[in-house]
Amino acid sequence: MTYILVINAGSSSLKYQLIDIDEGHIIAKGICERIGIAKSIISYKADKGDKFEKESPMKTHEDAIKLVLDLLTDKQIGVIEDMSCIEAVGHRVLHGGEKYSEPVLIDDQVLEAIEECIPLGPLHNPANLMGIRGCMAAMPGVPMVAVFDTAWGQTMPKEAYMYALPYEAYTDHKVRRYGFHGTSHRYVTGQAVKKLEKLGIKKEDTRVITCHLGNGSSLSAAKGGKCVDTSMGLTPLEGVPMGTRCGSIDPAIIPYLMGRTGMNAQDIDTYMNKKSGVYGVSGVSSDFRDLKAAADQGNERAALARKLFCYKVRQYIGSYAATLGGVDAIVMTAGIVENDPYIREGILQGLEFLGVDMDWEFNMTCPRATDLEITKPTSKVHVYVIPTDEEMTIARDTAALAL
Ligand code: ADP
Repeated sequence: MTYILVINAGSSSLKYQLIDIDEGHIIAKGICERIGIAKSIISYKADKGDKFEKESPMKTHEDAIKLVLDLLTDKQIGVIEDMSCIEAVGHRVLHGGEKYSEPVLIDDQVLEAIEECIPLGPLHNPANLMGIRGCMAAMPGVPMVAVFDTAWGQTMPKEAYMYALPYEAYTDHKVRRYGFHGTSHRYVTGQAVKKLEKLGIKKEDTRVITCHLGNGSSLSAAKGGKCVDTSMGLTPLEGVPMGTRCGSIDPAIIPYLMGRTGMNAQDIDTYMNKKSGVYGVSGVSSDFRDLKAAADQGNERAALARKLFCYKVRQYIGSYAATLGGVDAIVMTAGIVENDPYIREGILQGLEFLGVDMDWEFNMTCPRATDLEITKPTSKVHVYVIPTDEEMTIARDTAALAL
């Protein structure tokens, strides 16, 4: 058995999973919340045990990781003998700028690079660094790997990642499109490519569009298994509308609304990131389950929010088909489309012209969150539902570099 600990640190939270990489199995997982705030809570769920939660003081991320290690090695509810069973730690890191297109073993230089990218990921990178430093202090000598959300987008050609702003915005301020959700897009693209190879398509010829539609949503286009475009940009705000983010809008709306309402830059940032998207349109919720319930009861704005979301995702699929010169597979992944057949239907209807021949009945009745195909066997374009697996991907990347 080879154990890898996967850490996803936020500013006041730290999600963890202990993974047995040989079996591809999660041994224990949980989350530390309210780190540095009163009433911090840690939750813990061992593979064969019940979920358990307790209030425990955690002033720093190092305190949090120490608590995690205590639980993992606890005589009663723990899953490992002692800390030395953990061979390596994989960290999810938001922003690697233009420096990292692959996962990397963490050393001083990497820490410095993550720090340099703080202006590009002001909320996440400092938190990611706290997670890494906390683990380094609690587990000295254990190899650590950083897996960047932005790495996948690094293969985009320049015409795809540049904005049509004065060139100095790029050279002086690093303003370009980076893309996010990279680990998820990479994993599901890889799975789709394997399926297409089995159908006789050469890897280098594969054209795959992946739709990661969850709390945050983005699409990616991959040729030969490499990203050639992706919908998020300098920040995760660009692209399709999301739970509370507006996605791409006419940029002139920003000064226009600032002028009319007196909002400042910070206000408008919150307006677009936290108050918009399907939540803003519906006035009901950012959660697609609530929107469906409200729409079913006749709430027109909730119905509109769902329609608008599907419309924009379908438009991206169309534009990526043009980018790729056709498409072999479209992948649906993450919370919304692993679960909601109506949204899949809303997105995929009208794509027959591309060669998508859906099995509409199976789309409605198929089991949730399982790896399957929802197009007919004869369909030219294959539509797959593939549950994403970011933590397992980070664990595999970590094992490949650290062991
Ligand atoms: P993240 O990992 O980014 O937090 P997820 O991929 O788990 O996000 O997606 C969460 C979102 O998925 C929820 O906000 C909700 O909109 C949607 N979702 C989850 N379950 C369902 C469901 N059964 N039906 C429709 N939408 C769902």
